[in-house]
Amino acid sequence: MSLSEIVENGLCIGCGLCRSLAGPGAVEMVMTPEGRERPVARQALDKSTLIQINAVCPGTRIAGPPQAQISEAALTDPVWGPAERLVLGCAGDSTVRFIGSGGGVLTALGQFLLTSGRVKFILHVAASRSAPMRSERRLSFDAASVLEGAGSRYGPAAPLLDFSEILDRGEPFALIAKPCDVTAVRNLARLDPRVDEQMRYALAFVCGGASDLSKSEQVLQRFGLREDELALFRYRGYGNPGLNRIEAKDGRAFELSYRQLWEDEDKWMIQPRCKICPDAIGQLADIAVSDAWLNGGPAVEDEPLNGIIIRTRRGVELFDAAVAAGALAIKRETSFAELGELQSHQVRKRRAVWARLKGIEIAGKPVPVVTDLALEDCARQNALADNLTEGRGARDRARRGRLGEPPAVSRDDAGAAMLKEGFL
Ligand SMILES: Cc1cc2nc3c(=O)[nH]c(=O)nc-3n(C[C@H](O)[C@H](O)[C@H](O)COP(=O)(O)OP(=O)(O)OC[C@H]3O[C@@H](n4cnc5c(N)ncnc54)[C@H](O)[C@@H]3O)c2cc1C
Ligand code: SF4
Ligand code: SF4
Repeated sequence: MSLSEIVENGLCIGCGLCRSLAGPGAVEMVMTPEGRERPVARQALDKSTLIQINAVCPGTRIAGPPQAQISEAALTDPVWGPAERLVLGCAGDSTVRFIGSGGGVLTALGQFLLTSGRVKFILHVAASRSAPMRSERRLSFDAASVLEGAGSRYGPAAPLLDFSEILDRGEPFALIAKPCDVTAVRNLARLDPRVDEQMRYALAFVCGGASDLSKSEQVLQRFGLREDELALFRYRGYGNPGLNRIEAKDGRAFELSYRQLWEDEDKWMIQPRCKICPDAIGQLADIAVSDAWLNGGPAVEDEPLNGIIIRTRRGVELFDAAVAAGALAIKRETSFAELGELQSHQVRKRRAVWARLKGIEIAGKPVPVVTDLALEDCARQNALADNLTEGRGARDRARRGRLGEPPAVSRDDAGAAMLKEGFL
């Protein structure tokens, strides 16, 4: 597929890896009018670049963990995949626990990776310093910088947009990112041996979907704010889950609870790729970290806590060392059954994706090549009628073009075109 076909078929999540492979002159990441970061080819891409992009893009190829990892795992489950150990826990440090999104486990692990000398830097994302509602890729070389990136960034984020330059540094690093970002780099590892040599750890969060920037813009509208007035836009953290806090440069401050932010599911504005995500639970990560609201859902100030899915032996070694050093604290062991209760939306999605992809295929639209993710086994847990409903629904939505996206253009270009046509 060409880049525009990947985007227009709703398969792009805006990770930026294609831009990194093709080079900044050839592909540019733009913010679209819908509020999505998308690649736009600025020149015709040669065949070998396009083949490479199709091989690594997490919209075209999604592979599960290696067979050896699946068969040798201490624990395994059709929905949750392989794991070595399942724990409920949090950061050992009280500041990290408080500032972190849930219990600060990812931040604590990132900091521990640096202070223990395992890696030179962490590749993750953080709020942009100049436009705090937007997220940008961050390289953190010290614990303070990792902490600055703590918290969930629900809008678009492109952590891989200069991944080739990161590999060119020739230094050991760890990635903290969404499961689809991890899929992209694991895809690249099949083509570029430097990925496995240098990326010592991949950590992911369990992910319900990335929203459009327009979702955040609606929050601003609610308070009568413009984006250029912002000094801070925090989605959550500073408590578990903490508040969505917005500060203007003139000192005004506004807050929404997590429930107020997400109360109406129709207005989540989740990107199309997320609706067919075969692995939003970080099966390719060394450790995947989730929320863990034991009281059935988030209030404002719950106990700081995460679900921790330790997936690989490398993850076990890291986890044990982080606990021994006091960077992480264990509350207790957990199970796939408990994770399924805490993350019932993830269970529903894993069971629905096989039928959704079949429905899209029947509508004649392209779907990603998915391997080793047990999608069919997950679908077998549904009643036949449920799979038919999912499949037909996806087929009909795909036929009506509801699972696709408009051609990617930057907001600036779209605005200029409308001005020229006399619409503005
Ligand atoms: C879009 C999105 C959807 C989510 N959906 C779910 C869900 O369905 N179920 C669930 O249990 N948890 C979900 N979470 C994760 C949850 O909010 C916590 O982030 C997670 O549990 C880790 O908590 P923590 O305290 O260890 O994180 P922290 O210690 O605060 O660390 C979070 C790390 O994640 C990185 N990060 C944040 N946002 C992004 C992003 N958009 N792209 C790449 N990296 C990012 C940060 O750079 C930081 O390093 C979601 C998070 C996001 C951003
Ligand atoms: S998902 Fe990533 S690699 Fe694929 S087209 Fe989008 S930005 Fe490029
Ligand atoms: S739901 Fe899947 S595709 Fe969407 S952001 Fe999360 S991991 Fe990526």
